[in-house]
Amino acid sequence: METLPAVRLYGKRGSPQAYAIRDFLQRSDIPFEWIELRDDVQAHKELGLEGVDDARLPICVFPDGTRMERPTVRQVTEKLGWFRHPSRSEYDIAIYGAGPAGLSASVYAASEGLKTVLVERFAVGGQASTSPRIENYLGFPEGISGGELAERAREQAAKFGAEILIHRAGVRGEFAPFKGVVDLDDGTRLCSRVSVCTTGVEYRRLGLPGEDKFLGAGVYYGAGASEAQLCSNEHVVMVGAGNSSAQASLHLSRYARKVTIVMRGERLNDNVSEYLVDRVTHTPNIEILPKSKVVVLHGDDMLHAVTIRNCETGEEREIETSFLFLCLGGLPNTQWAKEVGIIRDEQGYLVTGPDLRKFAPTMDSWKLNREPYYLETSMPGVFAAGDVRHGSIKRVASAVGEGAMTIAFVHRYLASG
Ligand SMILES: Cc1cc2nc3c(=O)[nH]c(=O)nc-3n(C[C@H](O)[C@H](O)[C@H](O)COP(=O)(O)OP(=O)(O)OC[C@H]3O[C@@H](n4cnc5c(N)ncnc54)[C@H](O)[C@@H]3O)c2cc1C
Repeated sequence: METLPAVRLYGKRGSPQAYAIRDFLQRSDIPFEWIELRDDVQAHKELGLEGVDDARLPICVFPDGTRMERPTVRQVTEKLGWFRHPSRSEYDIAIYGAGPAGLSASVYAASEGLKTVLVERFAVGGQASTSPRIENYLGFPEGISGGELAERAREQAAKFGAEILIHRAGVRGEFAPFKGVVDLDDGTRLCSRVSVCTTGVEYRRLGLPGEDKFLGAGVYYGAGASEAQLCSNEHVVMVGAGNSSAQASLHLSRYARKVTIVMRGERLNDNVSEYLVDRVTHTPNIEILPKSKVVVLHGDDMLHAVTIRNCETGEEREIETSFLFLCLGGLPNTQWAKEVGIIRDEQGYLVTGPDLRKFAPTMDSWKLNREPYYLETSMPGVFAAGDVRHGSIKRVASAVGEGAMTIAFVHRYLASG
């Protein structure tokens, strides 16, 4: 039996608002149909609008018939019943960031009887949910889409009773023994006996004029899983030489006429899985431009070309494209930790356990007569797991493993209180 799409989204090509909703639905594994309005006649006939420039676009139509005009992602979240308020005044454990590490920590914490809240700034699944296919995660020999993996983990965490607050970000915290108080960006305050930071990394940017303007209108951070099918017959440009760039390029090459990978180095990074290097180099419609960088973004409302410069020769070339994907890796966003004196490395990653002595040999601020647990930060009762942690491996499996491990240390910490 054919399953009907849950949500229909109508809009104009290059609309950043429509992209934000598509990205959220794709990452959340919610079936949807994107209907790109071609002309005023279609906009009038199908939606009763004046034309494709009608300010009411994009429009979401839900399976129950509800029509939302120009909704925000938060309004879509509310409509799906996913937006909720904390039910308790205090939790045993609050976890910030619902990527693989945070989801895993939530599953283990809630299943082991801890009153658990998980806070996520955007969509459940983190970086992993932007991946079209994760092929090296244990137990999925055919691979699994990041969105599906995230949705399964969300269900599992919810089944065990973890509360998940989507579309809220932790912005600052105060931590005392067995009491962490964290302010969220909407003014909500969360109290918990233990806090876990699993906020991963933020995408690096190109830093070019127009980058903000074109975001969602030709420039996309990450693998652009929601955009792949829209690239049919297009020439797309991917920037980056890591695993995520290689994986995304392969996925895009199934739809696009041509994929050009732009990288500063000579070849894909050494840590890129061998099977990926092999597939990328043997895919006929993938071209690699080594020792190169994007230097100009062209377009008006929407990106229509990029200039690429060869860093060795200085030679420049323009490629006409409406799809520039940036897989440039990331940096952690841990300003809140600096504000409360939690030890970070030079790039802002949170230092934990035995590594702390490398950064602060005397550990003057550590007043307990035990060493910090392996995943504990320099603040007792504040833990860090996954990509945000100094020295982490930057893989789904390691993030999931660290999330689970954290809970073992959380039990030890709580038992000492
Ligand atoms: C395109 C792509 C493909 C990849 N493919 C693979 C693969 O095939 N195999 C593999 O092993 N790894 C892969 N990776 C790497 C893997 O996805 C990451 O290592 C993993 O997701 C890290 O998990 P994490 O939970 O530590 O952090 P993240 O996945 O980065 O999740 C962090 C979460 O925290 C949220 N957040 C941030 N700040 C706040 C805040 N203040 N308050 C609340 N929430 C916040 C973010 O929105 C995000 O959802 C890929 C990465 C990318 C980008």
